[in-house]
Amino acid sequence: MSNRLLGSEAQAFTTKMEAASEVRRRVFGFEAWRGEQERVLESLFQGRDALAVMPTGMGKSLCYQVPAGMEKIPGFVLVISPLIALMKDQVDSARQKGLRAAAVHSAMPREERERTLRWLAEGALASSRADGRGSAQSQGPLQILYATPERFRQETFWEAIKSAEQNGHPIKLLTVDEAHCISTWGHDFRLDYSRLGDHRARLGNPQTLALTATATRPTQEDILRELRIENGETIVSSIWRPNLAIEVLETSGIDEKIQAFVMNRHLHPGPAIVYFSLIQTLKKFSDEIARLGFVHSVYHGQLADKNRKREQEEFLSGQTDLMLATPAFGLGIDKPDVRLLMHVELPGSMEAYYQEIGRAGRDGAASNCVVLYDRDDVSIQSDFVKWSTPDPGFIQSVLNLIARNEMRARQEGFDYLRSQMNFYNRRDFRVETSVALLERWGALEGREPREWKAVGEIPEEYLDQDRYKRSLKHREEKLYRLVQFFESPVEADSPCRLAMVAASFGEDVAGRRCGVCDVCHSKK
Ligand code: ADP
Repeated sequence: MSNRLLGSEAQAFTTKMEAASEVRRRVFGFEAWRGEQERVLESLFQGRDALAVMPTGMGKSLCYQVPAGMEKIPGFVLVISPLIALMKDQVDSARQKGLRAAAVHSAMPREERERTLRWLAEGALASSRADGRGSAQSQGPLQILYATPERFRQETFWEAIKSAEQNGHPIKLLTVDEAHCISTWGHDFRLDYSRLGDHRARLGNPQTLALTATATRPTQEDILRELRIENGETIVSSIWRPNLAIEVLETSGIDEKIQAFVMNRHLHPGPAIVYFSLIQTLKKFSDEIARLGFVHSVYHGQLADKNRKREQEEFLSGQTDLMLATPAFGLGIDKPDVRLLMHVELPGSMEAYYQEIGRAGRDGAASNCVVLYDRDDVSIQSDFVKWSTPDPGFIQSVLNLIARNEMRARQEGFDYLRSQMNFYNRRDFRVETSVALLERWGALEGREPREWKAVGEIPEEYLDQDRYKRSLKHREEKLYRLVQFFESPVEADSPCRLAMVAASFGEDVAGRRCGVCDVCHSKK
């Protein structure tokens, strides 16, 4: 089958796995597969489509970079990626490893885009191309092309893909990165992602790999349905990490939380990360514990970049062993020996919770994950849900405001929008969310308020009230399930905490117990 290139029988399965290991070693310098990488590749080499759910930092990219580097299998890997900002890093990192990689997106000069599409179109005939920097790496056909889903709106893109195929260089793997953007429920929903099912069909259903770090069971099903993947294999990286002892402590108010922190800090020495949802609480906590003599670093969005970097470095290098942070801290960071991971406020979702506790105990040694649960904090997350899912009418009004009064909007920025929308609660970030969505939907341009430019209408699909209501309801239900998790009583017949987390990602853990969470402990 021509559209099952990785799974075709031209090469035996074992030979392909061996070749893949060889590429992993030679090109990437890795001695072994990590996590579920091997299973994902096995699935692809058996000719199946796959959805892989792997936490950030586990090495999702290798799952498509290795097939890209396997020159005996003709063709290139097309990676659909939502963020132009990320794409540049992805291309650089692939190139550093010696892969012939490029991107096409709207933010690059037209010439460069055309040059890349020509390179693609030449297909297997592109034998002596230089990327303009004279790099020897780029000699030969393109191996990986990164593109935003919006590229499919351009016929020139289709034509280049078609020429590549005619020139012996078909898509050997269609990779949909950040595949959760396809789910109409999600906050990251992207209209052009939801069209990928159609595009995939028009491409002749090439073998497909969907990747995401965050997808609970219903989202996984949504991704497969939207991409029209039948009989695909869903590979969920096991989150069974019984070295993480989950404990939920009911607390009320900041004083009790500080007491609980002090007690746990004494019980669990070593590097510790303490997470907050609100910067305001973080700062207050920081002042209080500094008075009690706890030396620590802090990391949040109100610090200047330079200071944030310095604080992070302090913690990573071991100058301090306590970090108070908002959840952004920890992404892409590999500190193996975090022994205590505390949530002072409720995390935003089960996905977020799981990602965050995943930053503890990476070395496999026993670590404690403690949540200071306060029923009053649920309203913080409930506000976040509301504010990050603004009503389409509200978003439209923000766009109208900017369009009607561009000069003033540019001069006064968000303050102008807030005053015009009668928004006086400064924590309410509905206006900011609306601007971000308008940019993503292509109705507004400009990174900074002073560059704002209303450039079009909001696509109708986004204005759909039903979709909005479904999305809001879905997010509220998710929060409700999270609350249920934290309110699950510590009684002998309650389910094990780790098993509950794992089950929400679709892992089959029926009857398993970690033996170390508060519930398991109560059984002893
Ligand atoms: P993700 O996309 O899942 O967040 P990346 O693909 O960016 O993760 O990989 C995270 C890090 O892990 C990278 O530094 C990568 O080089 C490294 N990595 C990936 N696979 C392996 C492996 N098999 N062995 C060792 N390191 C790996």
